Amino acid sequence: MVIRFALVTLLAVASTSLFAQPPAAPRKGTRGNPKDTEVWEPEPKVVKPGATDSLPPSDAIVLFDGKNLDEWVSTRDKSPAPWTVSDGVLVVSKARGSGNIETKRTFRNYQLHIEWKIPENVTGTDQERGNSGIFLASTGPGDAGYELQILDSYNNKTYANGQAGSIYKQGIPLVNPARKPGEWQSYNVVWKAPVFNPDGSVKAPAVVTVWFNGVLVQDHFELSGETRYIGKPFYKKYDSAPIKLQAHPDPSPAISFRNIWVRELN
Ligand code: MG
Repeated sequence: MVIRFALVTLLAVASTSLFAQPPAAPRKGTRGNPKDTEVWEPEPKVVKPGATDSLPPSDAIVLFDGKNLDEWVSTRDKSPAPWTVSDGVLVVSKARGSGNIETKRTFRNYQLHIEWKIPENVTGTDQERGNSGIFLASTGPGDAGYELQILDSYNNKTYANGQAGSIYKQGIPLVNPARKPGEWQSYNVVWKAPVFNPDGSVKAPAVVTVWFNGVLVQDHFELSGETRYIGKPFYKKYDSAPIKLQAHPDPSPAISFRNIWVRELN
């Protein structure tokens, strides 16, 4: 017993002296100068934040501020966007022949803020319940491009890679932070456009990060190409593209948008 105690004591002393040395405090002159690792330039430019996280900071391009659709056109023929604005809110038009709308401007890499609301009186199930979407790059007419899905995903079962916060049929959201119909919801997105070689092959895939109601749902997700309703995704070369909103042709009541702004990250 005495021997065992002595052995334990010896080991404790040895480990304290050999392995548990506290790190020596850095001393000027002997361990280098802390100023050697300070970087002063370039100095980040000052940006004034919005009054709330919903509102655009001073360097944002405002795509919709509740007043008009001056920044938007019909995807089909680039005529004035045929959706309605009332009480500061943009409402999807599902009228026959209305179709998707997209920005007049084109973008490559950006940060996007957008808010949307499923109507309280939403009807339908699965994909036919408050379906819309944000095409982070609209590469052609109809639903061509890269869709971040919008859907009522509050107690509405559908395929996991087609619920709200999914990159349609590619990226299942990490969690489901959907709010009830009738409540405003937000997406904050960082979109890094794909980079193409001159021959159209992919040099670097598109990468997206998405927060849904402030919760991370897509973490630096690499896309395998444009999102597609049928078949496997594949890339088509583009340089910069509009952002597009979807008028999904299902019979459920139309959803609304507000506070849409973007910051270019080129
Ligand atoms: Mg959709």
